[in-house]
Amino acid sequence: MRLSQSLSQTSKTFSSDDPTANAKLLTQAGFVKRESAGVYSFLPFGWRVMRKIIEIIREEMNAVDAQEVLMPALVPIEYWQKTGRDNVEIGFQPSEKYILGWSHEEVVTPMGKQRIKSYRDLPFCAFQIQTKFRNEARAKSGLMRGREFMMKDAYSFHANQADLEKYYARMKQAYFNVFGRCGLESFYVDAPGGEFTKKRSHEFQVLTEAGEDKIFVCEKCKLAWNSELEVRKCEKCGGKLVEKKGAEVGNIFDLSTRFSEAFDVKYLDENGKQQLVVMGCYGIGVSRIMAVVAEVHHDEKGLLWPESIAPFAVHLVSLGKDEAAKKAAEELYEELNKAKIEVLFDERDAAAGAKFADADLIGIPLRVVVSPKTLEAGGVEIKKRNSSEVNTISVKELLKSLQK
Ligand code: ATP
Ligand code: MG
Repeated sequence: MRLSQSLSQTSKTFSSDDPTANAKLLTQAGFVKRESAGVYSFLPFGWRVMRKIIEIIREEMNAVDAQEVLMPALVPIEYWQKTGRDNVEIGFQPSEKYILGWSHEEVVTPMGKQRIKSYRDLPFCAFQIQTKFRNEARAKSGLMRGREFMMKDAYSFHANQADLEKYYARMKQAYFNVFGRCGLESFYVDAPGGEFTKKRSHEFQVLTEAGEDKIFVCEKCKLAWNSELEVRKCEKCGGKLVEKKGAEVGNIFDLSTRFSEAFDVKYLDENGKQQLVVMGCYGIGVSRIMAVVAEVHHDEKGLLWPESIAPFAVHLVSLGKDEAAKKAAEELYEELNKAKIEVLFDERDAAAGAKFADADLIGIPLRVVVSPKTLEAGGVEIKKRNSSEVNTISVKELLKSLQK
């Protein structure tokens, strides 16, 4: 992508009272555009990051045999009336007929019912990656709490509690994989079940000052509890709990038979007896991950994307007005594109200082400079965003290192 033509542009100013780093940096670096409180457009840089997070989640969901589907955002009101969730405050109701989906148990449960006859049809899991709508009283902290946001939600169907628990453990590991691959260390936290279940749920929390949740982490075994639970000592080892601020990036629930009862979802067991299906549900805040990564991975100059979800692998900068150097930069841009290495090309007619400041703000892992000086020294100058070391290498060496 040529920076001169990109819809994503950097800006020096930030006209908002949102104090969080993600709101400021993602806006100033051209990743998102705020449309109203909790409602954002994703510009090319931001959408690239989101797509990478989505792909990681998709891989991990496929690995636990979940099947991707897409459910409607417009959910008929009768579905919500069946579970008594038609009056939940966070539901947006665009007309008398619908409530915009803020979670999809009411759609997926009848979908599962249509599929299930006997025990042989179980277990299975469906997931989707979709825009969710929630009428949050206070939409704040940039992408962390939106009124419209991207979620991954999955729903599993089982013959009994033991089978659900087996799958729940696989999902737990898949969640750790997702957050780890996105560059986040997450804590597994016991929490209340909210609008979903009377049982405890489990949250995945990332420690950050920008987080809205208070959690208590065991100093010894790293297990943690949401502050809404009255836990005073580690329930596992009796260790001392320390209070931390966290952002919830995922939440998983044992739904038991709450939704299968509401929609009468039963199967015939081995003895020919009707039994209620047991369900679990599993959410990830996809756009919130992007915000939390920005909170955790930035410095005073800007963002520092982990390679796995960076919008581009290379930030290519051409410097000076020298025609030969410009041509060399253009050729390198073509070559990187041909090799399918994602590259942002800053070919703007601007001062070196301004270009470097933008590269730091945008936060692509590798900066490559082409100028008369670097050509004279035998190639291009490379610098990693997270290091101050600068090296000159040949174009050939660069291509080889990127194709690994
Ligand atoms: P919170 O406690 O932060 O309000 P929640 O418990 O209501 O979230 P869930 O229903 O568990 O949220 O949704 C699954 C995931 O979606 C959450 O773990 C979170 O990462 C993300 N999420 C929830 N609400 C929002 C929101 N308003 N904006 C962005 N992401 C959200
Ligand atoms: Mg939650």
